[in-house]
Amino acid sequence: MAQSQSSTETDWVSRFADDVIAESERRAPGKPVVVASGLSPSGPIHLGNLREVMTPHLVADEIRRRGYTVRHLISWDDYDRYRKVPNGVPGIDESWAEHIGKPLTSVPAPAGSAYPNWAEHFKAAMTAALDELGVEYDGISQTEQYTAGTYREQILHAMRHRADIDAVLDRYRTKKDPAAAGAKGGKKPQQQKKVDEAELEAEAGSGAASEDDGSGGSSGYFPYKPYCGNCEKDLTTVTSYDDDSTELNYTCTACGFAETVRLSEFNRGKLVWKVDWPMRWAYEGVIFEPSGVDHSSPGSSFVVGGQIVREIFDGVQPIGPMYAFVGISGMAKMSSSKGGVPTPADALKIMEAPLLRWLYARRKPNQSFKIAFDQEIQRLYDEWDSLARKVADGSVLSADAAAYARAIGTAAGELPSTPRPLPYRTLASVVDITAGHDEQTLRILSELDPENPLTSLDEARPRLDRAENWITSQVPAEARTIVRDEPDKELLGSLDEQGRESLRLLVEGLDSHWSLDGLTTLVYGVPKILAGLEPDAKPTPELKVAQRSFFALLYRLLVSRDTGPRLPTLLLAVGADRVRRLLGE
Ligand SMILES: [Zn+2]
Repeated sequence: MAQSQSSTETDWVSRFADDVIAESERRAPGKPVVVASGLSPSGPIHLGNLREVMTPHLVADEIRRRGYTVRHLISWDDYDRYRKVPNGVPGIDESWAEHIGKPLTSVPAPAGSAYPNWAEHFKAAMTAALDELGVEYDGISQTEQYTAGTYREQILHAMRHRADIDAVLDRYRTKKDPAAAGAKGGKKPQQQKKVDEAELEAEAGSGAASEDDGSGGSSGYFPYKPYCGNCEKDLTTVTSYDDDSTELNYTCTACGFAETVRLSEFNRGKLVWKVDWPMRWAYEGVIFEPSGVDHSSPGSSFVVGGQIVREIFDGVQPIGPMYAFVGISGMAKMSSSKGGVPTPADALKIMEAPLLRWLYARRKPNQSFKIAFDQEIQRLYDEWDSLARKVADGSVLSADAAAYARAIGTAAGELPSTPRPLPYRTLASVVDITAGHDEQTLRILSELDPENPLTSLDEARPRLDRAENWITSQVPAEARTIVRDEPDKELLGSLDEQGRESLRLLVEGLDSHWSLDGLTTLVYGVPKILAGLEPDAKPTPELKVAQRSFFALLYRLLVSRDTGPRLPTLLLAVGADRVRRLLGE
């Protein structure tokens, strides 16, 4: 195998890659390395759940870079039950509640969708985001797997060993929730009650994680649940099962339907989540599958799954780090395209894919972080650009270099980038001021650096488009910059001699300083001249006060506020003639 462990061997991704390769060679020498993620398309897939994919993706990518073949499975848990009607999703109404209990692939898509069902509709948005992020994976529809009978042997095996499974689950039932264990011991028909409770639960990352474990029926424990042959809901109770004939009887508590089926040929049901997950670890030979911190408690599906995969399916639990919560800062309510939930697609509208990848690559899975939709995104981009400069001049630390390399591309090559990555905050300011007017935007951007002017907006894309989307979707109207049409005569008239002189000096210097650097020198220099200092004088506390009040005066006169975009950018954007007019000259 090719070895190319350069400076990347010190970061968390590389350390997991070492472990995963070693484990894979021990368990399945010469076979592709298998890593896995699971996503439930029960509604808009939350941006926070992207960690479920990015953690194994980054490890898989490092393993590919070392020359190994990797399968990154993304299990679409689209055969899970539809648990609740999410809030705020366009194109649906209360009538979708009648589908609760059906497989997600049997629920109609929101009105106007181009997709055949609920699951496909929400999968599509995620799939597009994963493509843009450069995530290479094998998507596996659990609806396809189950309805094709792919897991037949595993299902029959689990049914044959239902008492053993029940015993494993029971160890944790008592630990986790004595009340639930008592209810189960009493063999009361708790099915309906449990379902209602499940429906009230807030939708967690994987909807499947909170599914019941198959207990609660009055006729014993069954780790398998059919979807009703009449109403398609999973509100069914298995009433008997015969191992030899594989004959299974169930009744539906929703519609009263009952039938006898043979599991040796029946394909409309699934293993309960706590058995389904470990079954698939064994079936696919998964070596690495992280999960959210909510899976780490005693009795959680990851912990219980570790016992079930070993004791029932003769398999091995994957290396499974718990990843911490990813939060969102400042997502404007109005902009969330789908149901008040920020999705990866929403993030990719305001930031380029490499930046989003970098947020995941630079933090260990157990570190939580926030994805910025507010002003913080500008600082984040500054940090990213500064990292790129350090990489270019060789002053970067090795772990930072590794995160950067993982962000800008994959084993398959580099992701699209912006040819002229002008500062995001500058682009945002310019777009803010020009309201997205292309000609004006190009004029301003080409004046930023007259020595090496931008010749086409495409050079600044896609970053320019992301900054524009950020301004229009995330920055509230009251924070937008509106350049005055007419001079503020009252304010101009109230200025003292010093104030008037400062404006005169500024206006006088405009033409000879008309670039980003030049105007920066000019706006900081005017208060120095007024104070009788040299242009390169070191700032004193008094000078800083004078600069601040000069800047505030300019903001008031140009945009009627005390602050705004950086002044050199603002001046360029407003244009010299209009600046002269608004400053009363
Ligand atoms: Zn039914």
